Amino acid sequence: MGTGTLHIDLDALAANWRALDAMTACETAAVVKADGYGLGAVPVARRLAREGARRFFVAVAEEGASLRNALGEGPEICVFSGHMEGDAAILAGARLTPMLNSPEQLSRHRHALPGAPYGVQLDSGMNRLGMEPADWAAVRAEAEAGPLRIVMSHLACADEPGHPANEAQLRRFREMTEGAGAPRSLSATGGILLGADYHFELTRPGVGLYGGLPFADATPVVSLSLPVIQVRDLAPGETVGYGCSFTATRPTRIATVAAGYADGLIRAMSGRATLFAGATPCPLAGRVSMDLLTVDVTDLAEVPGSLDILGPSQGVDDLAGAAGTIGYEILTSLGSRYDRRHTGEA
Ligand SMILES: *Cc1c(COP(=O)(O)O)cnc(C)c1O
Repeated sequence: MGTGTLHIDLDALAANWRALDAMTACETAAVVKADGYGLGAVPVARRLAREGARRFFVAVAEEGASLRNALGEGPEICVFSGHMEGDAAILAGARLTPMLNSPEQLSRHRHALPGAPYGVQLDSGMNRLGMEPADWAAVRAEAEAGPLRIVMSHLACADEPGHPANEAQLRRFREMTEGAGAPRSLSATGGILLGADYHFELTRPGVGLYGGLPFADATPVVSLSLPVIQVRDLAPGETVGYGCSFTATRPTRIATVAAGYADGLIRAMSGRATLFAGATPCPLAGRVSMDLLTVDVTDLAEVPGSLDILGPSQGVDDLAGAAGTIGYEILTSLGSRYDRRHTGEA
């Protein structure tokens, strides 16, 4: 096997959904945008639908169409980017529910697809997507007269429980949705952890399902093993890789493994990240190449057939920390060359 093996534990995914669901008294949806945060939107959504999830969120209509094929009728599939120019056929064909972000999107949707359901996304202070308070005041009566399914907004700082933006957004969302004639949704993973005030009628966790922070008690979902292609011994003074950026300071054994920045192991990990043989750390030596990593395995009595970069010794957020990024980016960068193996009940 020349590619890495990415194990995705669907039982752990389901356990995370149940755990997040149990923290609230309301409905729990699932965010499966970006191919289920890199883990496969179809197997992820199928399992969560079996677990009881009735609503799924994607970023763009195209993602929703392939999800509809996989899930069949029944679950509601919601699109954060709303109704973009040219989306009418795909929204109607796949029976998607766009989260309308502006009065223009509302009028586009109601003209193109009269009677088709929609949600409304409100801006409560993040200034990214959603109707501003004045927009909403102007179109609210019209929006509520149609098949309005959800009124939602998104928190900018939910991963920082003490941040004053959380309470400010909560207050504005309450003001904007008082007397709303549809279920309200404010919280993703971080908002669920902020407590009941933030839950309303529906939550929309993403990263916590996949084992990432801010859900610190998540069950890990992914592990990634990379096959060793070759092992060599270096004398002190020899160098490794592009730019000769690693120099052996002792007799050193280097393993070359099959994954690189083209597989989402970003070049910023060079000289910083660590692989593992069981519990023994094996640091990267030299720069990350497109398809290869070079790893210092001098401390191993025996070099195994593969080394782990994600697993029990190093989770998604540990690796993210070493690479100067966040778990979300590690997950969604996981490359298409890996052999993805979904384990657990489908
Ligand atoms: C991505 C996203 C989510 C899920 O967020 P997580 O932090 O991954 O739980 C929820 N709502 C919106 C609007 C999003 O863009």
